[in-house]
Formats: sequence, structure tokens, C-alpha cells
Amino acid sequence: MKCIYCMIDKPASKFIKREHVIPQCFGVFPNDNLVLHKTVCDDCNQYFGDNIELYMGRDSFEGFARVKFGIKPKKQLKSRRRIKNKINQGEHKGVIVTEEKVGEDGQIKIQKVPQVGFFSGIEQEYFYFEMGQIPTKDNLISKGFLLKNEIVWIIGDENEYKLLVKELEEKGIPLKNDVALTKDDTNGLSVLVESSITIDRTIMRGLCKIALNYLASQVSNQFVLSENFDPVRNFIRYGNGKSDDFLIVNQPPILHEDQFLEKFGAKVTRGHLIVLSWAKNALISKLSLFNELTYKINLCSGYKGIWMPIKFGHHFDLDKKEVTKLLSVSKALLI
Ligand SMILES: [Zn+2]
Repeated sequence: MKCIYCMIDKPASKFIKREHVIPQCFGVFPNDNLVLHKTVCDDCNQYFGDNIELYMGRDSFEGFARVKFGIKPKKQLKSRRRIKNKINQGEHKGVIVTEEKVGEDGQIKIQKVPQVGFFSGIEQEYFYFEMGQIPTKDNLISKGFLLKNEIVWIIGDENEYKLLVKELEEKGIPLKNDVALTKDDTNGLSVLVESSITIDRTIMRGLCKIALNYLASQVSNQFVLSENFDPVRNFIRYGNGKSDDFLIVNQPPILHEDQFLEKFGAKVTRGHLIVLSWAKNALISKLSLFNELTYKINLCSGYKGIWMPIKFGHHFDLDKKEVTKLLSVSKALLI
């Protein structure tokens, strides 16, 4: 048995874990037939879980979207690099928050993360830095922050406060009396939150993995093992190569009806869509998780070998927890 990612021959005892085409952090589908057996070795499965899926589920645009669907992560990451949510208005402007869950009123509940706020003399407003990411005193001063005559805000509970004070001291920022501790809430208040989300190589590799997994599930392991897929395989497993060669973000929606209905603010599906098809001698997948952003993934360009018809599509319905095959994907790929 050969793993489709590391390409190493291993005994069956190294292929115990199942590989889900779409990671389970994006929903569990009880009768899901899109699970790979004896395809991805346990080492690769573990590697992906620890190094890619952890961040896809909690620190990506889709990780953010899953909160809206009530798929709450077991545990949030302590610090996220890819998603930054900031309150956009009012006296809490600039405060960094994390999304918790959707409340009964349909609004996303937020919580402040432990952080420290400094006043910028240039912008004339506060900027906040998360615990573990506080710049040094010199760095702050060189960027125009006023440390002497302005209040430094420390946001955190008692324990976090101690840790933040320690970090401030380490960064050369001594605390005097003009420090304000706050854990006052925006409870019940509705605030506008601005999110900035970075799709980095880790997330891109995870998205490409979904597409290559999908190809294996629809055609065969043998097909995926061909050298046509070495570049994308090495990008996914080892991070080699240029991400632009494999993934393009924000393509038009996969379904035509979607595009039509979107004008009226409605969406056909609450779920994930994936399609796979040839475009001349390239094999292209389009993927949309939570029907939000659409990605175009290039699994191979310049295919060499025996040609076979490939035209597949699946819909993962998050409401019904069902996976269904799309009957027609003929118009689906707008390449
Ligand atoms: Zn492997």
C-alpha cells in the first residue's frame, strides 16, 4: 500500500486512520461515503491534523464561517495569526475580539481576548496588541505611540492581567499608576466588528488537500499516485512550490442558480460544494466551504497519460447532514 501524500509503501498496520475528504472540523456527515480508507498513511494523517487542519478549523475564513453554522470548535486557539476581529466603532474601537457562537437572536457573540492598548499620537486613537505579541518599548515609540502621558489599557481577567504585566515589563514598558485594568463588557451591546483574514500557505495546502482527496475518492488511489500529481502532492505534504500554481481565491460561485439568487440575498445551499473536471489537459477542482469563498484548485496541468472522463460534483448539506452527488456539473465550471 502506498500513501498518496508521502508516496511511501507501508504495511496495512500504518493505514488505520480514516482520512475524511473534507475535514471533520467542517461538519460531520454520519452516512458520509467520502472517506478514504487505506489511502493516506497514519503519519501523514497525523501531520495534516496537527499542522494544517488545526488552523483550517480555527484560524481561517472557513473556521470563522463555521461559527455561524453552530459548528463550534472544541477549543479556540490561544492566539490566531490569520483572523483578526476588531471592534469598529465606539469607545471600544480597536479592541480585538474572538467570535464565540451564534446567540438565540442570530447575532454572533464575541469575547475580548487578553490584550494591551496603547495610544497612537499619530492616529489619535488606541491600538491593541494581543498577549504574546506586544512590541518592545522602542518599537512602540518609533511608531508614534505615546507611552508617557496616556493610559495603557490592559484587558484580561485576573490571571491574564498578571501575565500581561509580566510581558510588558519584559518589553521594557514599566507600569505606573496610569494603567487601567478593564474587563468591562459590551454585554448586550451590539457592536460592529471588522475582520481581516489572511489565507496563507498553510490554509491553501489544506484546501488543495481536500481537492486531491476528492480526486482519490472519485477515481482511484492509483490514478492519484501518478507523477502528474507530484507538484500538488508536494505542495500539500511538504509546502514545496508556488501557491499561485495551485490555488486561486474568490472565483465565481460554483452553481449558476446561486449566482442568480445571490442578487436577492439568498443562497441555494447551506453547505460545502466541490466539483472536479478537466479543462483541456489540466485537472481543476472548484471548492466552496460553507458556500462562502470559492477556490479554484489546479491539481495538475499538462496531464500525461491515459485520458479518462472526469466530471464529478458533491454537495455537503450542513442542515440535513447529508452528502449528495451533483447530477450535472456541466455548466458548473467556469474556467
Ligand atoms: Zn503518508
